[in-house]
Amino acid sequence: MSIKKILIANRGEIAVRIIETCRRLGIRTVAVYSDADRYSKAVNMADEAVYLGGVSLSDSYLNAQKIIQAARDCDADAIHPGYGFLSEQADFAEQVDQAGLIFIGAPAEAMRLMGSKSAAKQTMLAAGVPCVPGYQDDNQDADLLLKEAINIGFPVLIKAVSGGGGKGMKIVEHADDFEKQLSSAQREARNAFGDDRVILEKYITRPKHIEVQVFADSQGQVVHLYERDCSTQRRYQKIIEEAPAAGLGDELRQAMQQAAVKATQAIDYRGAGTIEFILDDDQHFYFMEMNTRLQVEHRVTEMVTGVDLVAWQIAVAEGKPLPLSQAEIHCEGHAIQVRVYAEDTANDYLPSTGLIEELQLSTDAYGLVDSGVRSQDTVSIHYDPMIAKLVAWGVDRSQCIARMQSMLNHSVVFGVTTNLAFLSAIIDSEVFREHQIYTNSLDNKAINLQQAIPPEVMAILADDLLKQNSHASIWQKAAGWRLQGTQSLTMTMITADLSRTFQVEKNNEGYLVNGQHHYQPTQNDYCYRHRHHVQVIHHNQRYTFQLPNHDVQAVASDANAMYAPMPGKIIAIKVAEGEQVVQGDTLLIMEAMKMELAIKAERDGEIKSLAVVVDEQVKADDVLVELVP
Ligand code: ADP
Ligand code: ADP
Ligand code: MG
Repeated sequence: MSIKKILIANRGEIAVRIIETCRRLGIRTVAVYSDADRYSKAVNMADEAVYLGGVSLSDSYLNAQKIIQAARDCDADAIHPGYGFLSEQADFAEQVDQAGLIFIGAPAEAMRLMGSKSAAKQTMLAAGVPCVPGYQDDNQDADLLLKEAINIGFPVLIKAVSGGGGKGMKIVEHADDFEKQLSSAQREARNAFGDDRVILEKYITRPKHIEVQVFADSQGQVVHLYERDCSTQRRYQKIIEEAPAAGLGDELRQAMQQAAVKATQAIDYRGAGTIEFILDDDQHFYFMEMNTRLQVEHRVTEMVTGVDLVAWQIAVAEGKPLPLSQAEIHCEGHAIQVRVYAEDTANDYLPSTGLIEELQLSTDAYGLVDSGVRSQDTVSIHYDPMIAKLVAWGVDRSQCIARMQSMLNHSVVFGVTTNLAFLSAIIDSEVFREHQIYTNSLDNKAINLQQAIPPEVMAILADDLLKQNSHASIWQKAAGWRLQGTQSLTMTMITADLSRTFQVEKNNEGYLVNGQHHYQPTQNDYCYRHRHHVQVIHHNQRYTFQLPNHDVQAVASDANAMYAPMPGKIIAIKVAEGEQVVQGDTLLIMEAMKMELAIKAERDGEIKSLAVVVDEQVKADDVLVELVP
């Protein structure tokens, strides 16, 4: 049967990604959305869109009933679940089937089997696929588990049988800690998955995560599409993925590819799947789990094979045979993907939500950007903070790395904090270049991500400011920027840790920072500025600053709001709503960075409204007052 209309039961970049292939194939698309996604890119791109309900997942993207009803109402032939959400829910796949619709994904039985880490390992062991040594039986008696753990030998990893997304995993270093870690893993597993059963595994100390993309059709044909290295992780979550795996040797790679095909043949499988292996220091690999869906990182496989995996999923769901045989699938060049998250790397990776004021994600002719958001969209607290994926391709790994660096250097996001600096630092690091990254390297701080600010960075910034504003007079207004004579300025910047002052002087040889280091910015230096936020890129490293005042922007913008120049507390308000003020009048006083800071009227006008009260804590950028001319 040929599919003419697909409902996409997902959101964000993966919904956009699926729509792109459907458009190419001439298949109509239906997006579904919650309150938070009403104006999203995916909804905009789809031919039709159906509102599901509020923002809670059970009202929207996890509501199987509503989604199936929506698909029937708009005469869709099939449902594509994307990844996450309902993609690995066997019950959902069965309900879709019972409703007379096609589920574009794995068979329910295979999902059920692979959804259980214990059943999956038992099946794989029976099929002769190597598994991490451990305990995966049903008996969950605590004393027995301890005995098994001692048998395996510490360190031991406790995993939730129904686990996923790195949740509910605990490393136990000594037998003494076992009981405590076990109950903590059980508690987490019960809360997250409603199932507190666990398995035990030997903890591999310098592991690489290597996974193989597999594909099966309903005629029983199984192929692999080479492997990916997903060892760059943080707290068991992938951040950077690449294909093929580097530095392994062809023999080992082929052995893993063969084992993955064997694993897939061992279950009655159909569609796209991924066999995840863990590779130890002695080059032994072990089956970890199978993901019965499209992966976040499927793009790197597409880049090196030229295959559109979503198109294959649709073909297989239609009952067609795989478009290519194993011999016809080639791996060419190298691809790397980085996941761009709206999160604050410096602040324990806290998700950063709110308005994306500016989004510029750059690619070259060989790479691509997958993103579910645009400038002026909002990163909501309700969903995963991944806002984009950048994917680069090169004839070999080093060209691919260079192209990825270039894509990162030309990309900038303002409004929400992102991990772009973190990604640049990893891609540029020696350990990454030498493919010496293990799944725990980032958690063990194997890459130094603490940046000292080289003086050149201040020279780049000064150069940008002076170039963009040839009228030197602008600087005289700025409290944080004092112009001395015409060729020298004092810059006070707020860096991640504290506020620092730099003296920058310009002469014929370039910029002199704090009396030393002549530097002339080059083509490889970049400076991005949005209001008082600045990002400078030098030697592929990204430095983020804040100017301690808004005057720079205030000159250019006619916005009526006055903003908090930095985080702090309001200690006095000197004006009332409705009051007329003249430029330079003190409006309110803030306490910030142990200083008192007078916020002055930028121009003559009337105080339309006060947005803060005395004693209120404000963040940088919060609106303080509305001042209308
Ligand atoms: P999930 O279902 O949460 O993805 P996985 O079993 O795939 O769980 O494991 C997630 C990650 O945890 C792996 O990518 C790897 O980094 C790490 N990991 C898993 N098993 C082991 C192990 N036995 N030893 C060391 N690290 C492991
Ligand atoms: P993969 O296993 O495909 O490499 P991950 O395990 O890192 O990817 O992430 C996939 C899981 O993360 C999903 O199963 C889901 O729980 C969650 N997830 C990540 N991003 C999203 C998203 N945009 N929408 C829904 N779920 C997501
Ligand atoms: Mg996994």
